Amino acid sequence: MARPFNFSAGPAAMPAEVLQQAADDMLDWHGSGMSVMEMSHRGKEFGTIMESALADLRELLAIPENFHILFMQGGGLAENAIVPLNLSRGGQVDFVVTGSWSQKSIKEAARYAQPALAASNADSNHTTLPEPGSWKLAAQAQYVHICSNETIHGVEFHELPDLKALGSDAPLVIDFSSHVASRTIDWSRVGLAFGGAQKNLGPAGLTLVVVREDLLGHALPICPSAFDYKTVSANGSMYNTPPTYSIYMAGLTFQWLKRQTEGELSGVAAMEQRNIAKASLLYDYIDSSALYLNKVARDCRSRMNVPFFLRDEALNDAFLAGAKAAGLLQLKGHKSVGGMRASIYNAMPLEGVQALVQFMRDFEKTRA
Ligand SMILES: *Cc1c(COP(=O)(O)O)cnc(C)c1O
Repeated sequence: MARPFNFSAGPAAMPAEVLQQAADDMLDWHGSGMSVMEMSHRGKEFGTIMESALADLRELLAIPENFHILFMQGGGLAENAIVPLNLSRGGQVDFVVTGSWSQKSIKEAARYAQPALAASNADSNHTTLPEPGSWKLAAQAQYVHICSNETIHGVEFHELPDLKALGSDAPLVIDFSSHVASRTIDWSRVGLAFGGAQKNLGPAGLTLVVVREDLLGHALPICPSAFDYKTVSANGSMYNTPPTYSIYMAGLTFQWLKRQTEGELSGVAAMEQRNIAKASLLYDYIDSSALYLNKVARDCRSRMNVPFFLRDEALNDAFLAGAKAAGLLQLKGHKSVGGMRASIYNAMPLEGVQALVQFMRDFEKTRA
């Protein structure tokens, strides 16, 4: 059964193989007589699911031994509070604001810490990224926060800043919700990374936190126990009941990721190649077209989220209706930006982007 191509920004499309595997396992996981949803999180069946998920993720993202992997809940937005509760010690925190998500982060942090604006791209309407050399980093900052891929505005850091080289000893915190596992990560530049699973890892309900060991154990006294990274880590992400089914689905996605290859490459490196090919195809077509427009500076364009506009906005409804009829779903842009947005996460095959470009071409021709 051919399914339509789904360009949702999140919760987003998942690999069909993963959904099929979950369907096959639904009533009886591996002869246990139970659905994964019905298992004790402390039983041996779920224990193997959890261990495999952790080991596969560590391998896929090449996470060093001195980083702890935490499976939490509350999504990226809860982490906007949980990170300052754990890392700020109530002091100054530097924020680079590059779009809606980092804007939300700095606002929430003000409840627990003293956020300072180190840099912003507001003057370009969030279509560029401020050069790291120009950031105002304070010596006393407890950490520096960036959103490494702005899902709504479609700007992405293609290289993480090297804070040490910029004269700062503060750990870098990245919100990588919408591009985790789409590319390799240089962990030597990162103190903590967090992200909701529902863009690139699995269903909603699971929040991933990868945190360097020395950053554990500094939570403010008001930090809820279930959100204290040290407590979560010490209990193997089972201080409270973890989102077991979402962890299982993410685990199936990790196994799917490990099976992916492009030439000599496999896993995340293969995905990165494929994601570059997908994004280039779409951006090159948009740039060559007389009807469509992407406003983001070329070297800051996200490989995952491609916002674009029809130069004649009166055609928006016809475009969306035609796309839906052609089996291309959820292309409407975020309400704060308008226009269209194609989210082309790992689960979107190259064929999906080819089908989108073909549709855009045909639509442009009929309107010429
Ligand atoms: C989707 C998203 C979030 C919000 O995640 P929730 O799970 O809704 O809290 C935060 N940051 C980024 C970059 C996102 O893309």
